[in-house]
Amino acid sequence: GPERLSRDKHGIDRRNVSRHAIKVCEVLRHEGFDAYIVGGAVRDLIVGLVPKDFDVATNATPNQVKPLFRRARIIGKRFQLVHVVFGQEIIETSTFRANASADEDTDEHGRILRDNLFGTQEEDAARRDFALNALYYDPINEEVIDYHRGVADLKKRVVRMIGDPEKRYREDPVRMLRALRFAAKLDGTIDPATREPIARMSSLIENVPASRLFDEMLKLLTCGHAMDCLRQMQSVGLHHGMLPLIDLIFAEEGGEEFVELALARTDARVRAGKTVSPSFLFAALLWKLVNKRWQENRAAGEHTAQALMSAADSVVEEQTRKLAIQRRFQADMREIWFMQARFEHANAKSIWRMLEQPRFRAAVDFLQLRAEAREVDSVQAQWWMDLADAADADRAEMIEAYQ
Ligand code: ATP
Ligand code: MG
Repeated sequence: GPERLSRDKHGIDRRNVSRHAIKVCEVLRHEGFDAYIVGGAVRDLIVGLVPKDFDVATNATPNQVKPLFRRARIIGKRFQLVHVVFGQEIIETSTFRANASADEDTDEHGRILRDNLFGTQEEDAARRDFALNALYYDPINEEVIDYHRGVADLKKRVVRMIGDPEKRYREDPVRMLRALRFAAKLDGTIDPATREPIARMSSLIENVPASRLFDEMLKLLTCGHAMDCLRQMQSVGLHHGMLPLIDLIFAEEGGEEFVELALARTDARVRAGKTVSPSFLFAALLWKLVNKRWQENRAAGEHTAQALMSAADSVVEEQTRKLAIQRRFQADMREIWFMQARFEHANAKSIWRMLEQPRFRAAVDFLQLRAEAREVDSVQAQWWMDLADAADADRAEMIEAYQ
């Protein structure tokens, strides 16, 4: 049976637990069901990080959960779960489920295509990825239920796969990325047996749908330790299947430094609890290549703006063959890039038009990043930053004096 750890063994302070998540557990428990806070929130609470969100796992089915709450909706077609809504907070409530094991539920590489079977709590724990992600917190008794010695791993900050690592990576290659991410985020390590197959199996990532890869990549880049993750990805070859251009970018003069500067900013924002814009991130990651092709196109005689546009098109097209960047983000990336050309040839009239662009602020931040990388003049970049920060009345004066 599982280990049951009391308050003094797991150390979770109930005051750091979402009261809405506690409420969901209480209501379910009152109806005679089992209900626990599960996954990332329990992991983060034990190591003293602030959870992004709270998930609940229960033996009640979605149809049993939904009527118990005033604002609740069933989500998902194949595997249904319930979103219980409290103002801004959503408590994702899912029913214990078992891993699919039948042949018809996996593709030719062993990748799981269906996982829609309800199961016991024990089965639910076994189908999760890492021991430290398979912990259940009962907020009523303040007890943690631990089937795979996840609390011990957490204390050592070791990411260890539940079951046979190779098999689990075949079932879902995204777990390779998740292993790197949690090790970086917890400032820990990957257990040797969990780590060993990754370099060997990294090409399996190419079978994962491009949109799912984008979601995981975004989580990786916004976990607060982005550069660390990127380096690890490169060292095990995981970047080939999702960010192949990064090799070209790092090979460019100043390419690695530029990405490093950009990700250091992102990490600082994440750790300060601020949001980061995915478009800005990808615009920065790909910039050195866009810039290179832009200059090449120019040298070949293309007009400045056109040269940048075709450079952007070719880079985005190559990138999205592996990892789909959503259209709206692509549009914002292009705006951030195109504005870089406009900074070069601005005049009073064009500056007023640039100020109306919704991505103006992001483009100025981007210019600042380029100045930090000594790609553009820092006095110029600061002038644009001051303009972005200025009140309307002061803007007129600044623009009039611009030359
Ligand atoms: P984060 O802080 O990034 O949200 P998380 O651990 O909560 O981290 P989620 O993607 O929100 O990650 O998933 C919630 C839980 O679902 C995980 O803690 C894990 O137990 C389980 N899980 C998520 N993805 C997988 C996967 N690919 N394979 C197995 N279990 C998974
Ligand atoms: Mg989560």
